[in-house]
Amino acid sequence: MTGGKIIFMPLGGAQEVGASCYFLKLGENNLLLDCGCGLTRGIKFTPKFSELLGTPYLQDFHQVSHVFLSHAHLDHSAALPDFLELNERAVVYMTDITREILSAQLEERFTRIEENISSVAFLQRIPLPRLRISFHQAGHIPGAMMTLINFRGKNILYTGDYSTFPTQLVGSALLPDVKIDILILCGLHARHPNYRRFGDSDSALKRILRKIHYALRRGKSVYCQVTQISKGVELITLINKFLPDAEIFIDERVMKIVHRFENLHIPIMSEQNHSLNFLPRGPCVILSTQLPPLHSGLEILNGDFSLHDDFAATVEFVRQVNPKTCVVVHSPPDKLFHAGTTLEQILMNDPDSRTSFIFPNNCEPFEL
Ligand SMILES: [Zn+2]
Ligand SMILES: [Zn+2]
Repeated sequence: MTGGKIIFMPLGGAQEVGASCYFLKLGENNLLLDCGCGLTRGIKFTPKFSELLGTPYLQDFHQVSHVFLSHAHLDHSAALPDFLELNERAVVYMTDITREILSAQLEERFTRIEENISSVAFLQRIPLPRLRISFHQAGHIPGAMMTLINFRGKNILYTGDYSTFPTQLVGSALLPDVKIDILILCGLHARHPNYRRFGDSDSALKRILRKIHYALRRGKSVYCQVTQISKGVELITLINKFLPDAEIFIDERVMKIVHRFENLHIPIMSEQNHSLNFLPRGPCVILSTQLPPLHSGLEILNGDFSLHDDFAATVEFVRQVNPKTCVVVHSPPDKLFHAGTTLEQILMNDPDSRTSFIFPNNCEPFEL
């Protein structure tokens, strides 16, 4: 028995990106925050669900009553069918937009999980036994939500991926107006002191746009490969806005999400946008999730960019929330620079900060 204790244990996505899934035990309530997959060298990995059964916290997966899915990126959502195979009764909360994007991404796997999903809206409250829960706009991508849980008078906020700046498709995160005791932070850049965005537009996005602009001016076509389909949608919006004359040819997978967004009244397409049914001639942009064709003479461009707060914005966000405890997950170490400075070290020297930090590893339980 754990009484009124709060137990937190990452099953994946702790100090890494991929397979985000966090077990949260609030007294007798067993919850999962996100349920994603990861990729290492092309091999898919899922959260370590079975590790839970080796703990005193859970005897049977059916004891997990609810899953809160922050957004549709696969590192937060793609293992949902795997978990629902272990527990076909769990109720999964997500926003309508997340549901739409997820159904396009998971394709036939989605039909097996559809009846477990309960759609929620921002600011909606749901009462569960001994818990009060509400959902808040997280920025990052359309549909992304933060989950606020009140348990025994304590406020616990799970951010999921979030951004405190607006993107092409969605406004910035809107924090709930309550004092947060425990912040579970998806802090992608919490340990990357040298990672900086410039102004309101990511430098990587500006670089992509600039390269497209120059290639088109030289009469060349650009093949832009995107790693996540929702990022493809973001790029279309951006190219339409800043290079309105550019013809864009969009692959089937990205197009599917574009249609979902448009069905939800998020306009994306312009007259210059077409489906990629053949390799087009003349200067244009090809947006695809596939590897570029060999020897095509196309200018190849990596279409990746970040939809996350940079290091300074992460520090500012936690300073503003000022929780008693901040559990930092989704937080890979700084490989490039081996820099020692972290979010924790900056706020340790801030007299107004009351926050103590935990950087848990996968399958490492903490009592909060
Ligand atoms: Zn994300
Ligand atoms: Zn993520």
